[in-house]
Amino acid sequence: MIATILIALVLLIVAAALLRALATPKAKPRCEPLPESALEETAGVENELAAAVRHATVSSNDPKAEDEKTFAAFKEELKRLFPRAHKELERHEIGDRALVFVWKGSKPELKPVILCAHFDVVPADDAELWRHQPFSGDIAEGAVWGRGTQDIKLMLISSLDAAERLLAEGKAPERTIYFAFGGDEEVGGARGAGRIGAWLEERGVEASFLLDEGGPVSDGSLPFADRPVALVGIAEKGYADVSLEAEGKGGHASMPPAHTTSGDLARAIAAIEARPDRARLGYTVRNFLDHLSPYVGFGYRVLFRNLWITSPLVKAAFKRGPATNAMLRTTAAPTMLKGSSKENVLADRAWANVNMRILPGQTVAGNLERISRIVAGAGVKVSVNHPEQLVEPLPESPVDHEGFRAIESAIGEAFPEAAVLPFLLSGGTDTKHYRKGTEAMYRFCPVRETPEDLEGIHGRDEHIGVSNLRRCALFYKRLLASL
Ligand SMILES: [Zn+2]
Repeated sequence: MIATILIALVLLIVAAALLRALATPKAKPRCEPLPESALEETAGVENELAAAVRHATVSSNDPKAEDEKTFAAFKEELKRLFPRAHKELERHEIGDRALVFVWKGSKPELKPVILCAHFDVVPADDAELWRHQPFSGDIAEGAVWGRGTQDIKLMLISSLDAAERLLAEGKAPERTIYFAFGGDEEVGGARGAGRIGAWLEERGVEASFLLDEGGPVSDGSLPFADRPVALVGIAEKGYADVSLEAEGKGGHASMPPAHTTSGDLARAIAAIEARPDRARLGYTVRNFLDHLSPYVGFGYRVLFRNLWITSPLVKAAFKRGPATNAMLRTTAAPTMLKGSSKENVLADRAWANVNMRILPGQTVAGNLERISRIVAGAGVKVSVNHPEQLVEPLPESPVDHEGFRAIESAIGEAFPEAAVLPFLLSGGTDTKHYRKGTEAMYRFCPVRETPEDLEGIHGRDEHIGVSNLRRCALFYKRLLASL
């Protein structure tokens, strides 16, 4: 009798799982990428980006190492490139690293939208090894070359390019649009986005949503999806650097004690790796899988649509790749180590830095406590390294929101070949500075990226294909037109 009931139960569960998989919303029909002819509409944006890249707006933690003249020249360049936007939009400079354009909407009762980007870049070392000089702005081999072409002058230029073209066509948005550009994102964003966030708050701006840099339209990063995926970040992880410190007696290495400071530190690190944070499928990952399910084979669809029963399987599969593993849990990566500086001397102090990326819904303090408990037996001290760089995870933004829908539909126009997926970013952006006055925050970079393309970001030979860039400008033109 019990056996019969059990068999019936299992059959019921299987049937329910299959039914849910079969009830997956229909995939959009497969589309080819837009032909080059459809990108004529935004032709010329490559010259604007090239001009912007020629200003080496490198930011640094040491303000004296920054070249103020270059930042000023960059802003002058924008005036030349976008004369209509400079004439017809309100322009505000807040301090020296924050630039805001306000395009007043015709319906003030609608909540405004904030489009973010940053105009600073990271340094370009090994300039002699670049195929085109890092600040040449060369247009060659079908691409624009230089630092900032991907991170992230392309978004700044494309959004202003779209505004300029719509102004020329005599169009204006219903919603007020804020173009919010910071000039120190790569070094924390306090002088740029930080000032803009405070400025918006003072003016009582309550935005519907914002769009900042984030996931790309990715080719091949999800091999089991039947098409490229547009990864729209609806959440980003928090950030903390944690110090582990073991103190003891130094001395000569010829007569060591049973436990050395370096040994204690090593045990602490091994304990952290042995006890990773528990895996969870939060709101973002659940929605990621749900949006992905129409675009995968039936087997995956059964898995992704039935997390009520398959979540252990999904977690086990995600655990196997570092990128997917990072979506499941707070990560703790030992990055820097210091012990004795001489071969035959015992360290009286051994130190390590552990870089943590904290899952939405958790806190920095909670994770410090967890790490302290794990290393308690090893006799090391746990503290926050660089408290000024701590970032608590931001709340997850809804998928069911007019902002997500607007971005989704603009992606459909510029990248009809892609499936739109909500996504969790492991890296940080400027969005933290806008958390107070914004309902929903999305992080998306409207360009096609293959895994190889991503290597140019912060690396050598950063470049962006001309047709790819025109797609980016088209995305903004459609998005702005829909607002
Ligand atoms: Zn960036």
